[in-house]
Amino acid sequence: MTALTFRYVAHTDTGLRRSANQDSGYASPRLLVIADGMGGAAAGDLASSEVMHIIRELDRDDLDTDAMAALEEAVTKANARLGDLITEDPAVEGMGTTLDALLWDGEKFAFAHIGDSRVYRLRGGELTQISQDHTFVQSLIDEGRISPAEARVHPHRSLILRAMLGRDDNGADLSWVQPMLGDRYLLCSDGLTDMVTDEVIRGALLAETIDMAATELVRLALEAGGYDNVTVVIGEFVEAGTPPDDRLSSSDGQPQLVGAASGQARPRTGKGSSGSDSATASSSSTYDPEELRYAPRPPSRRRWIRWAAAFALVALILGAGGAWAYNWSQTQYFVAAQDGKVTIFKGVQADIPGITLQHVEQVTDVELETLPTFRRQQVEAGIEASSKADAEETVAELDQLAVQPTPTPTKPTPKPTPTKTRSTASNASWQR
Ligand code: CA
Repeated sequence: MTALTFRYVAHTDTGLRRSANQDSGYASPRLLVIADGMGGAAAGDLASSEVMHIIRELDRDDLDTDAMAALEEAVTKANARLGDLITEDPAVEGMGTTLDALLWDGEKFAFAHIGDSRVYRLRGGELTQISQDHTFVQSLIDEGRISPAEARVHPHRSLILRAMLGRDDNGADLSWVQPMLGDRYLLCSDGLTDMVTDEVIRGALLAETIDMAATELVRLALEAGGYDNVTVVIGEFVEAGTPPDDRLSSSDGQPQLVGAASGQARPRTGKGSSGSDSATASSSSTYDPEELRYAPRPPSRRRWIRWAAAFALVALILGAGGAWAYNWSQTQYFVAAQDGKVTIFKGVQADIPGITLQHVEQVTDVELETLPTFRRQQVEAGIEASSKADAEETVAELDQLAVQPTPTPTKPTPKPTPTKTRSTASNASWQR
């Protein structure tokens, strides 16, 4: 068998809508890594950087154990680090990160995956996703309830079921990956995959060099809207001993560290900058579904928005459009809490003396206290639905996330190793 080595490149961009880059990317002759942080302003950066710095410690040629054992140990250590940070500062609770890491042992990759960042392989012109998204929509695909095409437009497509959150049940999927000569591996954050299709990714990955491919992939994500941070890390397999390609930014053999972990997230420049400024300003005052997935807005803020909406509605009801506005309000649904149960309401959320704009449509069996904190807060604040079916979908999703309260609410007994099996719908990583 031909001895192989790989060339590499890591690119990132804050995107056109975000003010900070919470992604971290890393590429070196031994290691390819991506981490997409979540959990609000500073915490997402912190989570992805801290995890990246621990995983990067694997980038040395004197590992004590085989690559898989070393990777598994590093993942456990990184997760524990997040747990410690959260214990030290409860304000960052809820922060977390996705992680994909490929550690080269000279013949094959040890591969760790958790979250919704992706790893693709381009082989013989064919693109294959080799990671499985830990998302709600992927669980629906696995159950045969929706198609991948439907998943792309599903209202809850951005909900992650597993991520590295600093808890004992946040194990990664671990497996070996056997590269072949000519393979290209792409690690990317959802800032790419939410913006472009796999076919577009395939086309870009066919570029002459991996630097060109990485540049083109980032460009395509920005062209499609650049809603999120976008990070791409690419490895390309060549015969061992092949001289460095001077066209590549990595021809100097130095590791490339980009994004939050580099501590110098690149500010938007050039033609995107003016758009970035206005988008940043508006993002602080408008609802951003992608951000909500990571860090649901505090209820007080949402309450204010609802109050404003209710005020506008009352003005309409009292005015000429009264009957129409009231009727419209009665075609709306939302999911909220009542008597400790997740409940579907018909109408709109508003507490206005003398006017009833909502009534209980259905009380479900889902207990509020069995939900993870994030989701519980969302329910308490109310989750709007575009239809009854949409509300039912939200309830089904909450039902899947519900867990029985653990008898010891403090520190559970640590497991010796992360689980190697992929949890399906139990979503244990959100258990508290
Ligand atoms: Ca992201």
